[in-house]
Amino acid sequence: MRDDTGAGVRAVGEDGDGERRGLPEARVRGDGGKREYGGKPSGSASPGGHGRADPTGGGSSHGGPSGDGERRDAPREDGRRRGSPPAVGLRGVRVRFRSRQREVTALTDVSLDVAAGEFIAIVGPSGCGKSTLLKLLAGLLTPTSGEVLLHGEPVRGPRHDIGFVFQRAALLEWRSARRNILLQAEMRRMPGGRARRRADELIAMTGLAGFEDAYPHELSGGMQQRVALCRALLHQPPVLLMDEPFGALDALTREQMNRELNRVWRETGTTVLLVTHSISEACYLADRVVVMSPRPGTVTEVIEMGLAPERDYTQTMGRPEFARATSRVRALLGGARGN
Ligand code: ADP
Ligand code: MG
Repeated sequence: MRDDTGAGVRAVGEDGDGERRGLPEARVRGDGGKREYGGKPSGSASPGGHGRADPTGGGSSHGGPSGDGERRDAPREDGRRRGSPPAVGLRGVRVRFRSRQREVTALTDVSLDVAAGEFIAIVGPSGCGKSTLLKLLAGLLTPTSGEVLLHGEPVRGPRHDIGFVFQRAALLEWRSARRNILLQAEMRRMPGGRARRRADELIAMTGLAGFEDAYPHELSGGMQQRVALCRALLHQPPVLLMDEPFGALDALTREQMNRELNRVWRETGTTVLLVTHSISEACYLADRVVVMSPRPGTVTEVIEMGLAPERDYTQTMGRPEFARATSRVRALLGGARGN
């Protein structure tokens, strides 16, 4: 992953000197607080919060907060064990970019906690700082002020314990699907045997079996994104960041990918932050949908979906609470003009 803060452009310190200000009091919700649209009261059922499965049996090497073989279907409360820090914490985060020509405040006062195993979808008008938010978590950018925490620890540089999937699969054309996936292992010097076993599991999980030896140009857009997803998950990151991963796919393939991502999330127990322009995708996949304001982006409202982790696509779409949630998001975004 490259640092694309760009030459001559960087996020600047609040006083232009790179110093962090005193931190504002931590808040766990956006300004608009929380709304719940699910059929169950918040926290009573089990959306998200699965323990991390470690099919390699080798134990978790990333020190994730729940890499200890909890049951996959453990209720969310387990993912929010008392005393254990949230997988992701944003506290009063502000990002200002300054170039020679202009200054842009991309994010302001963004605060959010994400529990281990939770699935968060982020929606907001174009240019409101969604990609910037993910880059902060990946350690590719430093906030101008505020705090960015992974598992309770400040993010101080590029993080190797996250997975990142972009809108474009960005596969190496001269490598087969399997060897594109294994690229992750080579970059991280993972033991070969473990990496190959994990690659096989992910290939099976994402329905790529039979296409392992195909080259990117022989794969459909959906399959290329599956390869990118496998590559991002190979090292079993406790946190997976996805930036409009299905934006370039046709509607039917996207639907299929949504179903698969729900299954992969359940089976891996990974914490997911997904940026998407699709309101239905956000509401189907997420435990909570974070709605952002136009730039400077901040959290306008957090909508709790309250869906069971395993959810049928068509049935979910037909539920009244799903319709209420999507129209709420649409209303919030309706007045927002992106750029
Ligand atoms: P989104 O992903 O929500 O569309 P981004 O996070 O990409 O928005 O960008 C938010 C704002 O910050 C935009 O106005 C964009 O032009 C600006 N921006 C993002 N990255 C940089 C950068 N490296 N240098 C200068 N401005 C940037
Ligand atoms: Mg973006």
